[in-house]
Amino acid sequence: MLPVGATIGILGGGQLGRMLSSAAAKFGLKTIIFAPGDDLPAAQVANRHINANYTDTEALEAFANACNVVTLEWENVPVSAVETIEAAGVAVRPGAKALSVAQDRVAEKTFLEACGIACAPWRAVDTLDDLQSAFTAIGPDCILKTRRDGYDGKGQVRLNAESDLASAWTELQEAPAILEGFVPFDLEVSVIIARANGGEIAPYPIPENQHSGGILRRSRVPAAIPEETAEQAISMAKSLADQLDYVGVLALELFVCGDGRVLANEFAPRVHNSGHWTPEACLAGQFENHIRAVAGWPLGPIDLLYPAEMDNLIGDDAATPLETLLEQGSLTLYGKTDIRPGRKMGHVVRLLIGTP
Ligand code: AMP
Repeated sequence: MLPVGATIGILGGGQLGRMLSSAAAKFGLKTIIFAPGDDLPAAQVANRHINANYTDTEALEAFANACNVVTLEWENVPVSAVETIEAAGVAVRPGAKALSVAQDRVAEKTFLEACGIACAPWRAVDTLDDLQSAFTAIGPDCILKTRRDGYDGKGQVRLNAESDLASAWTELQEAPAILEGFVPFDLEVSVIIARANGGEIAPYPIPENQHSGGILRRSRVPAAIPEETAEQAISMAKSLADQLDYVGVLALELFVCGDGRVLANEFAPRVHNSGHWTPEACLAGQFENHIRAVAGWPLGPIDLLYPAEMDNLIGDDAATPLETLLEQGSLTLYGKTDIRPGRKMGHVVRLLIGTP
């Protein structure tokens, strides 16, 4: 167990790092943000910011030397950065394994299936020929996704019987990809699960997630799913966390189909947007539990005190007058000054007290 006053390093400087830093401060733990850029949301509230690139070995070593343990808030941190920190003798939680699996959709689906977690049918696509044969096998309703660097629906093309495969391939700039069968789901849910250093597991109640344009808009908890579906979803996430020997909070995104099937979409090796209601609706939120796990502390209670709903403030949503935003519920703003379309600026949590 790290003592109070110890320092946790965070790779990444966005809003997740900001909320992790605030959660660490609650316990008198310090944080150092490692990320390139000025005035980053996380750097505004952390104890220190190292403004350097993830390939800067010297800066990474200086960061490692200043931290008792390191974690991450962004899954596209190069694995080499994690390896440099580990080589300097400082543990990174979660480590290189979880990160490398989550960064590559082929590695991710292969790992999920090896854990016994069902996914939509998929094929690796490296050439237009691969795309044609994959389309014959699992089309026509499917999605072409880049293997790496996709987020919030970016790097994806939806295909159907009328699609021109060559232009879809060009649209993704011929980047290594996977073709995935389109899942006619009833709803999307996610399992936010914390795993402590010794393997103790705490799965939060499951939220139901609504996306538009590939971006999460709203999460509502508890999801309207039968008890057996919730149990199945949690056992999938538990198996993934155990197989990765994961430490921290992990999110597994799932499709729930009308016929009762539960299929994995992807996982994030970090705290997750669909868990932003947890600090208000549970005694120990996802940021607190991630910090506890990374610090080698026991996890805090995750029982749902009230049903809740979280709305993201995206782009112009944040231009709503402050008085109105404050009336909408418990407001969190990320300290971003430029409003851009699709940019996550903050969120509002409402406790649905008295709502069945
Ligand atoms: P992703 O970036 O893979 O999480 O995809 C973003 C969103 O696109 C998901 O949250 C779903 O709403 C939708 N989506 C992705 N993959 C599929 C699929 N195989 N079938 C149906 N919808 C999907």
